[in-house]
Amino acid sequence: MRLTAGAIELPALASAHSHAFQRGMRGEAQRPGPSGSDDFWSWRTAMYALAASLTPESIHAISKVAYRELRAAGVRTVGEFHYVHHQPDGAPYADRTVLADAVIEAARAEGLRIALLRVVYARAGAGRAPEGAQRRFSDGSLDAALADVEALRARYAGCDDVRVGVAPHSVRAVPPAWLGEIARYAAERGLMVHMHVAEQPAEIEACLAETGRRPVELLAERGVLSERFVAVHATHLAPHEPALLGAARAFACLCPTTERDLGDGLPDVGALRGAGVRLCVGIDSHVITDPFEDLRGVELGERLRTGKRVTLRGEGTPAEALWEIGSRRGAEACGFADAGGSISIRRDAPALALVREERLLDAVVYSGSPAIVDD
Ligand SMILES: [Zn+2]
Repeated sequence: MRLTAGAIELPALASAHSHAFQRGMRGEAQRPGPSGSDDFWSWRTAMYALAASLTPESIHAISKVAYRELRAAGVRTVGEFHYVHHQPDGAPYADRTVLADAVIEAARAEGLRIALLRVVYARAGAGRAPEGAQRRFSDGSLDAALADVEALRARYAGCDDVRVGVAPHSVRAVPPAWLGEIARYAAERGLMVHMHVAEQPAEIEACLAETGRRPVELLAERGVLSERFVAVHATHLAPHEPALLGAARAFACLCPTTERDLGDGLPDVGALRGAGVRLCVGIDSHVITDPFEDLRGVELGERLRTGKRVTLRGEGTPAEALWEIGSRRGAEACGFADAGGSISIRRDAPALALVREERLLDAVVYSGSPAIVDD
């Protein structure tokens, strides 16, 4: 943190897990659904309806709206977990990566660095072919998916503001047999690997039924865990699973504003940090664009879960630890070496009135919002 006359300079924020097109359903999933029982899976039905309707033009336009708002909120790096690849019937576009390119161009147009995490998706669940909108996400073979990763890597090889990674969607959507091959492919090229892990109890039950392993156990067994692996959510882990992630020096990307919106539950932040897992945060569904809320949600969720206050202990202040999680860690999880510059916080922002100079970062983290960012 650096104080100048009227501003506080801080490393720029990073949002390591985003589905930009979901910005298009803001306000659309906050009323009771027809089933009378709303949960993650009924929300997913609404999200699939939007995913089914996307065109190259609309995904570009929606992504620009999403990224413009992120940029104004102090974010300079986004990890885009991109899974809508093909036409509505599942047939590839003539230009196979047209949707990924539309998203990348939206980020660059709005001044964000982007890690395009090209999702690999194969099935609705164990032994079940893709259904409905999932046909747009799915590739008939792993080779086809990795060929698209290769095409994107070649196209953006000279671009400092673009990284390309690979993202097996989840243990539900990717067969166990593909996992080791994806890990080897990424290791040979030094690519980041992002994956939804243990977001919902049903995913864990299905994984146990199919493989006899919990998700993180399966990933460890198949060689997926590494210092380039990012476990998104890591909400419902057994007590020994953070140690598996930590031993590999993997990341966990927590998405507090989305996880609470979806009723996902609270991760055991203390266990993850204690095991040496590197934490970062992501906006995920774009239900609200407030990276400050995602940041402090890491600590405030842990307070709700444990009934304790100030759970982040270690070197430096909790606010310093959280800012590191929200800036450099997230950029690293996206494959960038640094935060990518700094942002300015307005010292005269109403939210910072009466705050002592030596407590400014505490107030920025625990009481700030995009309104204090000087764009
Ligand atoms: Zn996600």
